[in-house]
Amino acid sequence: MPSSLAQGVRVIRPANLRLSHFLSSLPLLVGAFVAARLPVLSEFFISLFNVLPTLLLLLGGAFCLAYGRQREVFLLLVLYVGYFMLDIQVDHFRDNGQVRDDAVLVFHLICVLLPMLYALYGCWEERSHLAQDMLARALVLLAVSAVAFALGRRYPQGIADWLAQIHWPALHGAWMSLAQLTYLVFLVAFLALLVQYLRRPRPLHAAQLVGLVGLLWMLPQVFIMAHALQVMSSMVMLMLVAAVAHEAYQMAFRDELTGLPGRRALNERLQRLGRDYVIAMVDVDHFKKFNDTHGHDVGDQVLRLVASQLRKVGGGGKAYRYGGEEFTLLFPGKSVEQCVPHMEAVRLAIEQYRMQLRDKQSRPRDDREGKQRRAGKAASEVSVTVSMGVAERQAEQRTPQEVIKEADKALYSAKAAGRNCIRSAGQRRGAVKVSAPAD
Ligand code: GH3
Ligand code: MG
Ligand code: MG
Repeated sequence: MPSSLAQGVRVIRPANLRLSHFLSSLPLLVGAFVAARLPVLSEFFISLFNVLPTLLLLLGGAFCLAYGRQREVFLLLVLYVGYFMLDIQVDHFRDNGQVRDDAVLVFHLICVLLPMLYALYGCWEERSHLAQDMLARALVLLAVSAVAFALGRRYPQGIADWLAQIHWPALHGAWMSLAQLTYLVFLVAFLALLVQYLRRPRPLHAAQLVGLVGLLWMLPQVFIMAHALQVMSSMVMLMLVAAVAHEAYQMAFRDELTGLPGRRALNERLQRLGRDYVIAMVDVDHFKKFNDTHGHDVGDQVLRLVASQLRKVGGGGKAYRYGGEEFTLLFPGKSVEQCVPHMEAVRLAIEQYRMQLRDKQSRPRDDREGKQRRAGKAASEVSVTVSMGVAERQAEQRTPQEVIKEADKALYSAKAAGRNCIRSAGQRRGAVKVSAPAD
C-alpha cells in the first residue's frame, strides 16, 4: 500500500504507538493496585514503602539529572511534595483518630495542584540551558507554592469552600468522591499528556499518562486505604524513573531514525551467537543519487521504509541498522538455504513498494488542483531497491566479524551483478544459488 510522505509535517502514525512504551508503567500500576488493596502488608513492605518515596526522589532524581532530564526531576519533586503533605495528614489521622484542622484545605489544594503541576512539568520539555531550565522550573514551583500558601493562610475557609464547591451542578455525578474541580483539572491534565503521547510516542510520555491515572485512583483512597498513599506515590515515581532508564537503554541500543536495534545491539548479539548462524548485509542501491535527487529528508523516510520491511523478515531473522544505508540481518542457528527465501521476500517487498512524494514546495494550493494532479499522476512516485550479501559461518571462521566480512564481499558481488539481488559467499564457491539480478 503506498504511503504518502508529507515533508515537514509531524504526522501521528499508529505504527509508532507501541505497547512496549507501557511495558514498565502498566505492570507497576497494576502492582500498586494490588499492593494498596492488601489488608495487611508485611513489616518489610511497610518499612520499604515508608522510605521508597524519599529514596526514589534522591536516587531517581540523581539518575534523571545525570541524563539531563530536569523534567522528571521536577515531576519527582512535585510528587514527593504532594506525598509528603498528605502523609502528614494521614499520620495525624491514624494516630489521633481525627483529621487535622487544616486537612480539608490541604487535601483539596493538593487534589488540584498535584495534577496541574504534574501535567505542566510533564509537558514542559527541556529546551534551554540546564541551569536556566532548572531555574525556570524552580521559580514556577516556588511561585505556585507561595501563592497557594499565602491564599491558604489568608482565606483558609474561603479557599477550602471554593475548591470543594460544586461549580457545575448539571455535570456533577454521584460517583465523584473528589471535588468537582479536581476532576476538571485531571481531565485537562490527561488530555494534555495524551496529546503529548500521541504526538511523540515514547516510554516517558506513556509513563506520565499511566502515572496520572494512578494519582486519580490514589487521591480518594488516601484516608481510606492504609497504604494507598505510600504505595501509589512510590509506584508513580518508580514509573518515571523506569521510563528514563528505558529511554536510556533505547538511546544506547536503538537507532533513532529507523527504530531498529543499532550497531551496539548487533555487537552485543554477535557475542552470544552459537556455532551456526547466517549473517546478511543489506545495502540500498544508488542511495547517494536518491538523496541528491529527492533530498535528505526523503532519503531518511526511505531508510525508515526499508527498515520497516526488513523488520518483517521471517525465518527467525532479526534486522539491525549497521550504519548509514546499510543494514544487517542475523539468522541464528540457520543455513543460507533456509534464509534466502525469507531475504528474497523482503527484497521483493522493497522493490515493489511505491511511495508518493508530496513535498511542501510542490503541494497544490487548493483541493481541486490537488485532485487534478493526483488524477494526472503528477505527485511523483518513487521506489528503491536493495542488494544483499549473505554468508554462513564456516568451521574455520573464529569470529562473527569474519562472517560479516564474507557477507560484505558477497554484497559487492551483488552490486557488481547489477544490484537488486542477493549473492551468497557460498555462491562464489558455487554452493548456493540465489536470486538473479534485476535487468
Ligand atoms: P550503491 O548502490 O553502490 O550502494 O550506491 P550508493 O549511492 O548507495 O552508495 P554510497 O555508499 O556511495 O552512498 C551511501 C549514501 O547514503 C551516502 C549518504 O549520503 C547516504 N546516507 C547515509 N546515511 C544516511 C542517512 O541516515 N540518511 C540519509 N538520507 N542518507 C544517508
Ligand atoms: Mg553503502
Ligand atoms: Mg548503497
